[in-house]
Amino acid sequence: MTGLEQASAADRVNGARPPAVAECDAVVVGAGFGGIYAIYRLRQLGLRVIGIEAGADVGGTWYWNRYPGARCDIPSLFYSYTWSPELRQEWRWSEKYAAQPEILDYARRVADRFHLRAAIRFDTRVTTADWDEASRSWTLRTDRGDSIVASYCVMATGNLSVPNKPKLRGLERFGGPVYHTGQWPHGEIDFSGQRVAVIGTGSSGVQTIPLIAKVARRLTVFQRTPNYSVPSRNAPLSDADVAAAEPVIAKYRESLETPEFGRVPANAFDAPVPERDVQWTRYEELWEQGGGGILTAFPNILTNEAVNDVACEFVRDKIRGIVKDETTAEALSPKDYPLGVKRICIDSDYFATYNLPHVELVDLREEPLEAVTETGVATATRSFALDALVLATGYDAMTGALAAMEIRGRDGTSLKAAWADGPSAYLGLMVSGFPNLFVVTGPGSPSVIGNVIHACENHVEWITACLESMRAKGLTRIEPEHDAERGWMAHVADAASRTLYPKANSWYQGANITGKPRVFMPYVGQGYRHRIAQIAQRDYEGFIRR
Ligand code: NAP
Repeated sequence: MTGLEQASAADRVNGARPPAVAECDAVVVGAGFGGIYAIYRLRQLGLRVIGIEAGADVGGTWYWNRYPGARCDIPSLFYSYTWSPELRQEWRWSEKYAAQPEILDYARRVADRFHLRAAIRFDTRVTTADWDEASRSWTLRTDRGDSIVASYCVMATGNLSVPNKPKLRGLERFGGPVYHTGQWPHGEIDFSGQRVAVIGTGSSGVQTIPLIAKVARRLTVFQRTPNYSVPSRNAPLSDADVAAAEPVIAKYRESLETPEFGRVPANAFDAPVPERDVQWTRYEELWEQGGGGILTAFPNILTNEAVNDVACEFVRDKIRGIVKDETTAEALSPKDYPLGVKRICIDSDYFATYNLPHVELVDLREEPLEAVTETGVATATRSFALDALVLATGYDAMTGALAAMEIRGRDGTSLKAAWADGPSAYLGLMVSGFPNLFVVTGPGSPSVIGNVIHACENHVEWITACLESMRAKGLTRIEPEHDAERGWMAHVADAASRTLYPKANSWYQGANITGKPRVFMPYVGQGYRHRIAQIAQRDYEGFIRR
């Protein structure tokens, strides 16, 4: 039986309504920036494509993250696709760091401009995906009871798409509304006059806290670990800003590499340690400039502790300068991990918010959170009466969305079982045992380090070029060699171990999720784009194509 016949038979048995089974060449799961571009490129190849998206619209993370203050942390002019010069000319960002509604509008514009919506099934979640070796096809089932059979499956399910909802004792008893920043309701949430608590001080918390403080009667922030945050200096964009960015973007497309904060440059390991004064002056300049540029101040800032220590001290000094209450300033100052090895936060007035009389920081390291009650939150020493609770507690990052589906590859092996000791993917693109299944910005690729839109573009272009070359050769099956994958993941681990990245309990290594294996997931080495391009040129070295 082919995959299509199997799917029809299963649906006849299980479904009350007539089975809906569709066949296509490629199925794309997720309609965020990776997914919609994949649909576009695959259709350009002349393939029949079906997209599946859990949300009611395109946008991925920007569809779900509607919390007050949500905006990009890479300048908008670069937080954009580079592949369409027309789109670049037609779209005009209003601010240096665009807010969520504008980014969502951009994704919608792309979907409309390139007629992508008709290919996408919205409000639909994939539950299982099964590989059938005989027919060389994937059968995906959805929560609507439908099946899609496709030769190729592209998982564009995002790295930060499954919210981490911590099991706080008593949370279900709380009488008021509980919001997660990553699943924010549509429509206006009015906190005015309310007593609100935010749990979590990562990028989401740091962005939303100043906005909630503007309207709430009282805002209590529960912080477990302080974060390094730098000012965005957000401002309206001028025509001159737009004109200045264009050659940089054009160069990026040519060179395949882009200067991004968070990446470790090739000259990191033999760069000199600058004098402290030289460093301090440079950090001052970059602080005034705003944004994540501080992480590009010196090539060895993410590899040399002596350099990084000065940067940490610089930011702590800034915090002490802004926050008037000394105890609060100390509690807000990170001291036990290097700068930049958790994603740096980019804020607008975050630290200054703690000077407002109705805003209080509760340091959970001093007074642990005991329970959520019917009326608020209790720590070891105090009770806080609340009207609303905001969880800014992050995501089951990089693997969460893939683990939420039952994906069974060759010989029925489940992806969850294959990744029981941590994720593994050749080049972060494909997994041994799971033929014809591509992962956009998967673990083992740079993905979340730097600019994710560019990372998505890079992967989508690589995947579509690969499929095009297979078609030209009459090939229909691709899978990475097990040894090539193992070698690559060893290299990913080695690249991280040569940096300061492993020195923080970050979501980069799954440390925020209880029981998740500790594996450093993003690739922080150099020349990734060149490397995967070379592998393609060498007839897809490390892949078995037939
Ligand atoms: P996050 O960085 O993982 O931060 C989660 C916060 O919740 C941390 O402060 C964490 O404390 C805290 N937390 C988690 N469980 C807790 C518990 N049981 N009790 C108390 N505190 C708890 O998540 P995020 O802020 O959503 O950001 C995730 C990533 O999304 C970012 O790093 C970034 O890449 C991306 N993002 C980007 C932007 C942007 O600026 N464009 C905005 C939002 C998100 P610990 O640190 O102690 O675990």
